[in-house]
Amino acid sequence: MRIRIFLFLVFFYPSFLFSDIFFFYEKKRAKISTVTKGDWVYVSLYDFKKVLNISFFKEKTKRRIILNFPEHTLTFVPDNPYYLLDNKGKKMFLPFVSIGGKSFVSLPDIETVLANATDKDVFYIGPLNSIVMDRITFNPDSIILKDEKEKVSFTLTSKTELITSIDDDKKGELKLTLYNAVCKPTLIPPSDGRGEIKKVLLQQEQDKAALSFIYDINKIEKIERELVSPGFSIRITFYKKKEKPPEEVKPKKQYFINKIVIDPGHGGRDPGAVGPTGLTEKEIVLKISMELKKILTKNGFTVLMTRDEDSFVRLRQRSRLANNSGADLFVSIHCNATGWRKQAGGFETFFLSTAKTSWARAVEAKENSVIEFETPDEKESPIEYIFYDLMQNLHLRESSDLADFIQESMAENLTIEDRGVKQANFHVMREIYMPSVLVEAAFISNKEEEKLLQKQSFRKKIARGITDGILKFKKIYEKKLNQ
Ligand SMILES: [Zn+2]
Repeated sequence: MRIRIFLFLVFFYPSFLFSDIFFFYEKKRAKISTVTKGDWVYVSLYDFKKVLNISFFKEKTKRRIILNFPEHTLTFVPDNPYYLLDNKGKKMFLPFVSIGGKSFVSLPDIETVLANATDKDVFYIGPLNSIVMDRITFNPDSIILKDEKEKVSFTLTSKTELITSIDDDKKGELKLTLYNAVCKPTLIPPSDGRGEIKKVLLQQEQDKAALSFIYDINKIEKIERELVSPGFSIRITFYKKKEKPPEEVKPKKQYFINKIVIDPGHGGRDPGAVGPTGLTEKEIVLKISMELKKILTKNGFTVLMTRDEDSFVRLRQRSRLANNSGADLFVSIHCNATGWRKQAGGFETFFLSTAKTSWARAVEAKENSVIEFETPDEKESPIEYIFYDLMQNLHLRESSDLADFIQESMAENLTIEDRGVKQANFHVMREIYMPSVLVEAAFISNKEEEKLLQKQSFRKKIARGITDGILKFKKIYEKKLNQ
């Protein structure tokens, strides 16, 4: 206690330059003379007589000086730090001195000595150069320190209005200024002892008090000011940095290629290409797709269909279904046709890209013609096109590989011409945010192939070929993704 007061006074050392200090008590003001002895300022006890009604008595034989306050009796011996409070021994920080017949107690001790003698609160307020007894309304009334596991908080409460400001410009220091406030030094809480809040300093000025919270920037993460009761209570909370828990060994995320969207082309009012005998692309691709679904399901895949009946499905709906399903791959099934080269035949697989050859452009134009079946407002804006192209480009490599594997596997299952893998720019694939391919299974415009397409065994071979390609892709990419 005494040491703390001592620090407080040292803090205001410049005020020691005054030779007189004031004493305020019950609206009275008295001038108190001081002397400087060594490093310390001593306050004349005799001068308190004017307001405190003290009688002095000097014992000549024992050199004792007895001060009779109305409440208590103090007995001092010159040059001795011990004194008697009634019959109890007390010790001061510095010895009592008698100079020129006057009694002096050091400034660091005066608060305690006067408080003991009068049973009243006594404070030395440096900037006011005054000793104050029970006169000034102190605010705040209380400062409550709460030290919890995650935070340290200081709650200041006052009966009179608290006007505050916060200054946190200085690293490791938060300064809370209380305007029109005289803060009781005894309210200042000690540090929390663990070094999060190193200390709290009080700086009292004429019209304001500033509390400086000195904290460890390595231990405090965040500071919050909260008006508990606006104007009358404020809380400053220092949140402690959490000690890092030992890092958990996260199981590595495994990627699987399991969900496939099969997109049978055309449907409903869009028949697609029509063969020499009137066989429509829409009906044959649905049959191939159903076959493909069966085999993929047998192989453990989850299969989603953009259509499983003869219905018109907009391109936008197809891509939305694929994207919303969180599918891994998108396979669009079509049959080829040409009006100008009846003997053209074979199978080919496309992946999305800007079409490179005039043939690819022709196939692209044919499959994209479904746009004409859609009402104008269902078409995408040019900006969306660009965006979708960018999205799709993320999967260009995968789409290209998937197309290669499917084409290879189909070649192992089919005897018709292998036309290879091609790049084209199909609208249906533009909006698909996953590896996607478009399979042109055979030429419906070719008499022989139209016949083949009507055979379930041929359609099964196509489905088998596509499945094998997907299985190869799954094997290679799952290994790659989970490395
Ligand atoms: Zn088609």
